[in-house]
Amino acid sequence: MDFQLVLDQINTELRPLLGEGGKVASYIPALARVSPLQFGIALRTCDGEVAQAGDSAVPFSIQSMSKVFSLTLAIKALGEALWDRIGREPSGSPFNSLVQLETERGIPRNPFINAGAIAVADRLVSLGDGKAELLALLSRLCGEPVSIDTEVAQSEADTGYRNTALANFMKGFGTLDNDIATVLDVYFNQCAIAMTCEQVACAAGYLCRDGKHPLAGTPVLSSAQARRVNALMLTCGTYDAAGEFAFRIGLPCKSGVGGGIVAVVPDHLTLCVWSPALDETGNSFLGRQALELFVTKTGLSVF
Ligand code: GLN
Repeated sequence: MDFQLVLDQINTELRPLLGEGGKVASYIPALARVSPLQFGIALRTCDGEVAQAGDSAVPFSIQSMSKVFSLTLAIKALGEALWDRIGREPSGSPFNSLVQLETERGIPRNPFINAGAIAVADRLVSLGDGKAELLALLSRLCGEPVSIDTEVAQSEADTGYRNTALANFMKGFGTLDNDIATVLDVYFNQCAIAMTCEQVACAAGYLCRDGKHPLAGTPVLSSAQARRVNALMLTCGTYDAAGEFAFRIGLPCKSGVGGGIVAVVPDHLTLCVWSPALDETGNSFLGRQALELFVTKTGLSVF
């Protein structure tokens, strides 16, 4: 299959729609001023073939896409014990919702809603320096140094009232072991990591290779663990739009409010698309369309 041709076609078809739908995240100035008129897409196959189009080399805030990699670190270190305090069911609610935590006694539904990712960050704090471990993992996975946008991190902290509420709530139920400020520091910083589509497509490569490092071939996760991360991405990776994503795209995906979406075609390739304008569920407006076009053009889907 000529993947470069496919990505070029998608870029050509979608570029005229830039600015036609969705809104850039506006909860912090550093994201609010990102131009919505950008679209990038990149993929890397299991054989190491790469293809990219549009703004695929422009760094953007990976935001909640980081939750895949923090979960990876936690699963690797804790195995099954991770699930003592975090669920594995889709939430059907917005990513920052508080409501389920009340009825479910402080146990977050899954590791990809904010509450779940904060609970994962707490586990990473218990294990060591979560922030440094995450940066080291991402840099190893894409073979290039990855860094945190400190302005975004500071703004996340300055405006993170809902995340602070989620953390306090879970602490009250005994879900978090560590000091809330330390846990949130990991969470806010992971949201502020900046990467390009090309880097993310490479970094996620272990998810289409039975857990093996995309460049070195060494195990990042076991194949069973990688399968589980993919299952969670499919069922929970795009929040309350996960059903619609499965219906229209049928790939494990994880989105972020920076406008990125990472997708996995198991045994074939990993793909990252980025366009900053978001739909009402907090997923990239054009990113979603790009993934749908990719699946239509290639027939690559898990279904
Ligand atoms: N920084 C954002 C938040 O915590 C991340 C959410 C997201 O990307 N869905 O609200």
